Amino acid sequence: MKTRDITPFITETERQVPVVAEADVVVAGAGPAGIAAALAASRVGARVCLLEAHGCLGGVWTAGLLSWMFEMNQPGIPREITRQLDQRGARIAGPDPNMYTYDIEEMKWLLEEMCVATDVRFQLHTRARACVMQGQAIQAVITDSKSGAQAWRAHTFVDTTGDGDLAALAGCHYDLGKDASGACQPMTYMALVSVPDLQAAAPYICFREGGDAHRHKTVNYETVHAFRSEIERAGVEPSYRQTKLFQVRGNLLALMVNHEYGVSAIDAADLTRATVRGRAEVHRVVKGLQQLGGVWSGLQLVATCEQIGVREGRRIHGRYTVTQADLAAGRVHEDAVCKVHFGVDIHSTNGTASKGQDATARGVTMQPYDIPMRALVAREVSNLLLGGRCISGDFIAHSSYRVTGTAAATGQAAGVAAALCAAQDTAPADLPWTLINQALKKITR
Ligand SMILES: Cc1cc2nc3c(=O)[nH]c(=O)nc-3n(C[C@H](O)[C@H](O)[C@H](O)COP(=O)(O)OP(=O)(O)OC[C@H]3O[C@@H](n4cnc5c(N)ncnc54)[C@H](O)[C@@H]3O)c2cc1C
Repeated sequence: MKTRDITPFITETERQVPVVAEADVVVAGAGPAGIAAALAASRVGARVCLLEAHGCLGGVWTAGLLSWMFEMNQPGIPREITRQLDQRGARIAGPDPNMYTYDIEEMKWLLEEMCVATDVRFQLHTRARACVMQGQAIQAVITDSKSGAQAWRAHTFVDTTGDGDLAALAGCHYDLGKDASGACQPMTYMALVSVPDLQAAAPYICFREGGDAHRHKTVNYETVHAFRSEIERAGVEPSYRQTKLFQVRGNLLALMVNHEYGVSAIDAADLTRATVRGRAEVHRVVKGLQQLGGVWSGLQLVATCEQIGVREGRRIHGRYTVTQADLAAGRVHEDAVCKVHFGVDIHSTNGTASKGQDATARGVTMQPYDIPMRALVAREVSNLLLGGRCISGDFIAHSSYRVTGTAAATGQAAGVAAALCAAQDTAPADLPWTLINQALKKITR
């Protein structure tokens, strides 16, 4: 009998990969940060390619079915997206311009239209999976898609993959999780549901037109507790204790009931397990509520997310690391790309903490603070910028700057800097802040 080869690795055959783009800037990942990076770079005059693994632009805004914005009152592209959603009647806004919910299908369409109008060349269903290096610089990104392997060359690259895939592929060092164990905040599997009677369901909806959060800027946690009691009455123990429903459009609601603990954003087997468990939990909750009847008769499961919501992935080492001490001091920087107002929000990494917050959040203080440009410049790769939740920061700081408005603001700054690097044939670390600041001011006017 033939013995099976049990070597743990195989060597891929060397092959020629077609070069499909010679761009100024390649942006990998089209979530809030990637969209802003690509639009900003293009508006500063760069030829831009934007690569996205999923079948729509928007990341957690769309494929993740998040539908609830924080920190969107940032100048430039975040405010522009808000205005455009308004023009489409696709937003439920309260008195706080930072916080609103939006129609996900309109968002998908809007982001595509904005990219087309701004001459951003984007390709969906395309995942960055390797970097070809020339010394300390990325020469090309290799993607996998239905077209096979493709090479995308550029002067400067921006990693907005959320998980820092591109930077890791290029050899950057990074941190993951809260300590050496790598424990991360839980993931959440989002879904959309519809109710036949919005008014009858109102006591269970934490954000809706005319509701408390809509009128007074704060979430009334009575709605959260009331909804959890209903789920428990239906015989289901939700893995996320702060169960939430929020209105997306008409009687369409986003359902947030799931937490997946102990899973890694950079392990496909973990992501698969979390997705399968999350989907099953959503079905159990919906079926349980339906069986209660009353308000819940006629409740429909409309959609489940394409991508489980990942709160935390790699935090790439940059030329500056935003820290807990920066938050406590409300640190300001000369090269500030944005101001962060959102507080520390650390979902318990194991689900045992009271009120859902991790023990590491205890006693942590925060005042509005700056993100400096240097936190967006990769330390070890000379032509790589970072935007969104993979920028350089510690575990605590990340829990505050990770929200989508801040992600878009950092992406926007990374895009501007990348375009200028290409135009000046220089590296991000050598680009004077005054130039970036001038260009950023122009596009955020
Ligand atoms: C469940 C949940 C609830 C949250 N609640 C809120 C909230 O209420 N309000 C708020 O503002 N923020 C919230 N956040 C935080 C926020 O959603 C994220 O931190 C934010 O989306 C970060 O934006 P990003 O662009 O960095 O990453 P992402 O939105 O994750 O986008 C990354 C994009 O890159 C793509 N990608 C990844 N790898 C590759 C690759 N190798 N090649 C090509 N493309 C790739 C992905 O498909 C995705 O489109 C929440 C997050 C989660 C998970």
